[in-house]
Amino acid sequence: MSQIQKVAVIGAGTMGNGIAQVFAQHGHSVTLVEVKQEFLDRGLAAIEKSLGRLQKKEILTADQAQEILGRVQPTTEIGDVAPVDLVIEAIVERRDVKRDLFAKLDELTGADTILASNTSSISLTDIAAATKRSDRVIGMHFFNPVPVMKLVEVIRGQDTSEATTDAIVEKAKALGKVPVPANDFPGFVSNRVLMPLINEAMFALMEGVATKEGIDEIMKLGMGHPMGPIALADFIGLDVCLAIMEVLQRELGDPKYRPCPLLRRYVAAGHLGRKTGRGFYDYSG
Ligand code: NAD
Repeated sequence: MSQIQKVAVIGAGTMGNGIAQVFAQHGHSVTLVEVKQEFLDRGLAAIEKSLGRLQKKEILTADQAQEILGRVQPTTEIGDVAPVDLVIEAIVERRDVKRDLFAKLDELTGADTILASNTSSISLTDIAAATKRSDRVIGMHFFNPVPVMKLVEVIRGQDTSEATTDAIVEKAKALGKVPVPANDFPGFVSNRVLMPLINEAMFALMEGVATKEGIDEIMKLGMGHPMGPIALADFIGLDVCLAIMEVLQRELGDPKYRPCPLLRRYVAAGHLGRKTGRGFYDYSG
C-alpha cells in the first residue's frame, strides 16, 4: 500500500480540528472540510489557539506555527477531497449521516484512498458496507484533546484488510500516538467502559446522591481520574455522549445502557457542554 501523504479531515469540530492539527504538525498537507464557512473558521481558530499554546511553551516558533497552519486547506466543497491518500471522518455521531458521507467519499476518492472514521461507537462494518471498498475502511479513533492524548483505538471492520490496518497503525505511530486494536463491537473498548460510567454519574446526580462538584471530586480524588465524569461529559460534548449511549442501548439491547433522562434534557435544551459554553457546568466566563 502506498505511503500516506495527503490527507483530508471531514468535520472541523472538537475532534476534526485536533486531528487536522496533528497531521499538519507532522508535515502532512490537510484538506479540512466543513458544511459551513463559520464552522471552518471556528475550527481554524481552535487550531491557531492550540498552536499558540505550543509557542508559549516554546515547543514551536512563530514561523513553525504559521507553516503548520499553512498546511491546512479549509474548504466547504466535499469535492476537494479527491486527490488524497487518507480521509478521516469526524462528523456527527449518526449512522445514517456517516453512511451517506462514506458512499459519497467512495465516489469522490481514488480506489487506493483509505477511508477512516473517528466514530466513538458505530459499527465500522456497517459504515464500510456503504462503500465498494470495505477492505479500505477502518476506525481510527482519536481522543480528546487530540494533540495531547496518545491513544488511537484502531478498529477493523469485518472486511478491513491487513494492509489497511498496517498502514493506519504505522501512521498513528508516526504521529507520535500509540495505536491499540479493538474489535468491531458497539463502543469498542473505550466507550463501552467509559460511557456507562459517565451515564451512571448522571443518574447519581439526578437522584441527589451528591452535587456535580461532589461527584467529580470523589472520582478524581478517590479513583485518580484526571477529570470527574460530569466535567468530562461536558468536555466530550453531551450530544456525543447521548449518541454513544443510544448506540450501546440499541446494539447491545441491555437496559443497563439506557441514557440518563438528565442527559437527554441537557441535549434537548441545546446545552451541549464546553462547545456551546454551557452544559452541566457554565463556561461562559
Ligand atoms: P462536533 O459536534 O464538535 O463536530 C462535528 C462537526 O462535523 C461539526 O462542526 C459539523 O458541522 C460537521 N459536519 C457534520 N456533517 C458534516 C458533513 N457532512 N461534512 C462536513 N462536516 C460535517 O463533534 P466531535 O465531538 O468533533 O465528534 C466528531 C466525531 O468524533 C463523532 O463521531 C464522535 O463520536 C467522535 N469522537 C468524539 C470525541 C469527543 O470527545 N468529542 C472523542 C472521540 C471521538
